Amino acid sequence: MVKVTDTHAHYDDEAFDSDRYELLDRLFETSVNKIVSVGCAYDRWEPTLRLTERYPCLYAALGVHPEDIYDMPSDYLEQLERLSQNPKVVAVGEIGLDYHYENYDREKQIAAFREQLILADRLSMPVIIHSRDATEDTLNILRELRPKKAVMHCFSGSAETAREILSLGLHVSFTGVLTFKNARKALEACAEVPLDRLMLETDCPYMSPVPHRGERCDSSMVHFTAAKAAEIKGIDASELINICNKNADNFFGI
Ligand SMILES: [Zn+2]
Repeated sequence: MVKVTDTHAHYDDEAFDSDRYELLDRLFETSVNKIVSVGCAYDRWEPTLRLTERYPCLYAALGVHPEDIYDMPSDYLEQLERLSQNPKVVAVGEIGLDYHYENYDREKQIAAFREQLILADRLSMPVIIHSRDATEDTLNILRELRPKKAVMHCFSGSAETAREILSLGLHVSFTGVLTFKNARKALEACAEVPLDRLMLETDCPYMSPVPHRGERCDSSMVHFTAAKAAEIKGIDASELINICNKNADNFFGI
């Protein structure tokens, strides 16, 4: 079996507290090539970095998720810049906008998104973007700030939005959402994404693909998403995995 690269996981999550190391040992041995683990709250940066020290093929993305911008120190950008000097830190993320839950602070989210995009640009680092119920504002900021290397993560929008994102030069990454029964939109969007801009991820412990919905997700489950994407593209799953692995290597420089 070809090993998969999972470009977006959260191994700092408490869902992995009971067996984190056994699980990662097994994954790297059996089915997983490389992992980018995303530490996306101020207090998750150190735990994520510690994981990178333990596993040569586990890398970190550090940033502040739009839902986690409310409790961080005023010098968080300086701290993020300092930690990003670590060679195992390969991206800023996930950052963006999330208007899903009530009482979000739009202005504050936009400010944090913008300043982290600007930092990534100054550090020449790729960016992982999170956007939920905020497509217009996200696209407007991307149009204005034009990150050189960015990926729209866990994409489940329309084919039309995918085309917009591609026209801005972004990569598009899919999770297990692609395997869901009601995934018609995501399937159409995936068909729009050229193979050289396509990436795969789990967003684990969330977003388990069919047939594991409801279970804890882990990086081995990229295989199910890959099989679906390969079907859409009309190529072998192993060929698709090889292409997506290479895309991830180039994108993150890993
Ligand atoms: Zn995530």
